[in-house]
Amino acid sequence: MQVRVRYAPSPTGYQHVGGVRTALFNYLFARAHNARFILRIEDTDQERFQEDALEDIYRTFDWLGFHWDEGPDIDGPYAPYLQSQRSEIYRKYAEQLVASGNAYYCYCSAERLEQLRKGGPEGTKSSGYDRRCRTLSPEEQAEFAGRGLTRVTRFKVPLEGSTSFYDELLGNIETANRDINPDPVLLKSDGLPTYHLANVIDDHLMEISHILRAQEWLPSCSLHTLIYQALEWTPPKFCHLPMVLGEDGQKLSKRHGATRIMEFREQGYLPEALINYIALLGWSFDDSREFFTLKELESVFSVEKLNKAPGVFDYKKLAWFDGNYIRKLSPEKLISLVLPYLQRDGLVEADPSPEQMGLLSGLVPLVQERLTTLSEVSGLVGFLFKEIEEYNIEDLIPKRLAKEQTLEVLKNIEQILKKFFDHSDEENEKIFRDLAKDMGIKLGDVLMPLRVALTGSRISPPLFESIRLLGQVRTLKRIERVIKLF
Ligand code: GLU
Ligand code: ZN
Repeated sequence: MQVRVRYAPSPTGYQHVGGVRTALFNYLFARAHNARFILRIEDTDQERFQEDALEDIYRTFDWLGFHWDEGPDIDGPYAPYLQSQRSEIYRKYAEQLVASGNAYYCYCSAERLEQLRKGGPEGTKSSGYDRRCRTLSPEEQAEFAGRGLTRVTRFKVPLEGSTSFYDELLGNIETANRDINPDPVLLKSDGLPTYHLANVIDDHLMEISHILRAQEWLPSCSLHTLIYQALEWTPPKFCHLPMVLGEDGQKLSKRHGATRIMEFREQGYLPEALINYIALLGWSFDDSREFFTLKELESVFSVEKLNKAPGVFDYKKLAWFDGNYIRKLSPEKLISLVLPYLQRDGLVEADPSPEQMGLLSGLVPLVQERLTTLSEVSGLVGFLFKEIEEYNIEDLIPKRLAKEQTLEVLKNIEQILKKFFDHSDEENEKIFRDLAKDMGIKLGDVLMPLRVALTGSRISPPLFESIRLLGQVRTLKRIERVIKLF
């Protein structure tokens, strides 16, 4: 059997961690089998369609850097890959199912269905549709059709027996047919298919061999199995992926933090780190190895190593991964990657001057060790590119010093800084040490007010390098400004 897999998102929202994990596993599975990975857009739900969702799919995967071999944007032998362009196909099979006695038309009004949902006067519990139209006589059918009533096509779920399918991860799953949603709609009144019908038909027609998808689709799989049987098709192999949870054990959602992939980009994560981390949500290679490039994943990924237990999304762990990936970058690469963030934050011009580039190449390598995301660079090096807006006087005064004492420190520092550029780093260090000793205070309590005066923050890149990059004039100006605050 030829392996073919697909990612089949509905453009009803943005790409988030769960969806991308599904896409990634399908992609890796395809690569491991030298097979094709298909993107199919399941856009038959007009009501939930979101205008920019499709664009978000393309942008997300462009940024992540892995792609499908067939899809709406590149075409392929099974086109079209947008379900909205395949309505005729679904209609044909829906009619075939009616003709073979596996589906029927339902003429119930929206009001009646609404009442059923609420548990209406007819005594039905709110367990769904009551199957009234399943037994309409040909005469009744003809009458309703003659009156021009709108209709939907419903699937005839068998009333007895059970349905089972094999899940590659979870094993055999058997469901009593009476527990399956009574007679789901296949074709809506607007003639468009529901997810169930379109999904089954396309997976068959596109010759998908394995379905790797989120576990939330597991309950639909019995129904899909019945539809495959009714169409006399062999279903693909199924594999429902472990859930992705937040640290509180709830399904990962906005409450936990960013889940949209493009939001991680805005926060300054590297796609390589994100892919690496997402690959470990519900999959592991062994007990120890954690770092994988996409290429490496392509050769080591296998479904056998999926975990049954849910993957837990740990934001701190992701940040740790990202920091590791950032430290591996060459200085040139890092500078080019942080530039857009500095521009976004208004620190560097769209077309940076040679002087700005000079400052960046001096400073960025110094902060490389401290970054966990690219966007943090603005906070760390911003002091070089703009004046400090406002000082927090509390930050300037070390815990162990009084206000007057701090002022004295700053005045002494001002004198030292006038000659800073005449000395080497070792000499300067000695000078600051001597000052601390003379004043009977700790070296840290000398350097801290200096650091805050120059950078506006207690956390900064290495101090002496910062002074050199800032230059004598700006350094002294900042000290003077701070002294005036006292
Ligand atoms: N359109 C479905 C989704 O948005 C696809 C589920 C499946 O892969 O079958 O998740
Ligand atoms: Zn009905």
